[in-house]
Amino acid sequence: MNELDQLYQQVILDHSKRRFGSPLVETTEGLLHGESHQHNPICGDQIRVRVELNEEDHFEAMSWEGDGCSISMASASVLSEMLPEMTKEEFLDKLEIFREMMRSKGTFEPDEEVLEDAAAFVGVSKFPARVKCAMLAWVAAEAAMFGANK
Ligand code: ZN
Repeated sequence: MNELDQLYQQVILDHSKRRFGSPLVETTEGLLHGESHQHNPICGDQIRVRVELNEEDHFEAMSWEGDGCSISMASASVLSEMLPEMTKEEFLDKLEIFREMMRSKGTFEPDEEVLEDAAAFVGVSKFPARVKCAMLAWVAAEAAMFGANK
């Protein structure tokens, strides 16, 4: 394993322990909120994601609760840290890049300026059975965003 792979693995391990954004928090009055529950039958991961957006389509917060493998929990933690301050459009752009990376079977060269800690999941893309684990929180956040209302 090269140095970058080791570093990325450490990032995933740290986030899986730290679980930034978990547990769920109460929603704030006056903001738009949405929630989504997603299940990954391949691995057994479960996640419930709650997002809050302001009237200008900026994310204010993401909180979540879940149970599953360290990849799925770490991915939710990373996304919770990244999401606040992003607009809906920025999130959808990053989701597209993240999805492309996760489908690349390890060939993608992530730009850390864009993907931040989510770049660490590039190694996971070599294992097709684990791709869903990494995608789960993102899919949940997307569904929560589209369902958001007062
Ligand atoms: Zn999993």
